[in-house]
Amino acid sequence: MIGAGQAGLATAYHLRRTGFQPGRDVVVLDHSPGPGGAWQFRWPSLTFGKVHGMHALPGMELTGADPARPSAEVVREYFDRYERTFDLRVRRPVDVRAVREGAGGRLLVETSDGTWSTRAVVNATGTWDRPFWPRRPGQETFRGRQLHTAQYTGPEEFAGQRVVVVGGGASGTQHLLELAPYAAATTWVTRRPPVFREGPFDQEAGRAAVALVADRVRQGLPPRSVVSVTGLPLNDAVRQGLADGVLDRRPMFDRITPDGVEWRDGLRVPADVILWATGFRAALGHLAPLRLREPGGGIRVEGTRAVADPRIHLIGYGPSASTVGANRAGRAAVRDIRRLLAEEPVAA
Ligand SMILES: Cc1cc2nc3c(=O)[nH]c(=O)nc-3n(C[C@H](O)[C@H](O)[C@H](O)COP(=O)(O)OP(=O)(O)OC[C@H]3O[C@@H](n4cnc5c(N)ncnc54)[C@H](O)[C@@H]3O)c2cc1C
Repeated sequence: MIGAGQAGLATAYHLRRTGFQPGRDVVVLDHSPGPGGAWQFRWPSLTFGKVHGMHALPGMELTGADPARPSAEVVREYFDRYERTFDLRVRRPVDVRAVREGAGGRLLVETSDGTWSTRAVVNATGTWDRPFWPRRPGQETFRGRQLHTAQYTGPEEFAGQRVVVVGGGASGTQHLLELAPYAAATTWVTRRPPVFREGPFDQEAGRAAVALVADRVRQGLPPRSVVSVTGLPLNDAVRQGLADGVLDRRPMFDRITPDGVEWRDGLRVPADVILWATGFRAALGHLAPLRLREPGGGIRVEGTRAVADPRIHLIGYGPSASTVGANRAGRAAVRDIRRLLAEEPVAA
């Protein structure tokens, strides 16, 4: 197992329940310093009350969490308790560098802490380690600061600065709402007009969104972000931001100049900071030696299994890239892996 975030822990739990012994039959490797998956790195102002709805891990509810506490702390403590309760024995920090074909139908997992030989790999490495920065003309000439959501630690450090926030996802809107009281000016640019979603996100809408992403992944296309298919939730803070003009969106600028951004029609916005809230991509570089990628750029996945190699399962990828999706996918992968191991004799 590679990765001990929501997806990895959910899968490790189901493996354990069906008789796989952690440390003996299953090894969980994670390169982060402590429990919490990517949540441990999220900015302190992303309080637990602000997250969209974190689904509990299987077998242990997350109850009584103070919504005013940083989600990083809440989730770190919860995952830590979870790992200890179910004795999941995560080995960290262990960085998986490559997964290769081994002898006798086995896979070799090369890491910062030696090489493992295994019959199946569950990959649950998330996206946090691969922030996506689009390239724009003139980007290298900008004299101000450019950073990505992955480096954002809160609004205070932008006091008095003019900030351009790029990106139409949940992170972009949250950054803008937080920055507005501190920054001298904020500008929001997105590639496509943002779509706001009225009302609660019911189960039917959830299923439809997941089906859309699943379809892309079945075709071997790179999965899209969940927000791109669900729309942005129109909560009170967002409504206020729209009314105040903080969420007044402009189309993507055409170039970056040394002191700001510029559109083809001559409009210029001076800026001290460009904050790229442009999302993340699946962190799968270590699987490259297996050549699973399709010409479309994605890995074709049926259920959770890589179509090109049934020994590889991707959890938290595409349709299962949410806390609820990861739980379900973990259970499904374990069923599949049991079948695979039952079919094949153990290689020496
Ligand atoms: C800002 C933000 C807010 C979000 N809010 C929500 C929300 O409210 N609700 C929701 O359902 N989803 C939310 N999501 C999506 C959310 O991240 C996922 O639902 C879920 O937490 C991802 O879990 P994961 O286990 O797939 O990945 P991660 O939590 O990223 O875990 C992956 C783990 O793999 C490890 N790893 C990666 N590469 C390697 C390697 N090569 N070797 C060893 N270990 C490796 C990492 O250290 C990490 O611990 C949010 C995402 C972002 C960016």
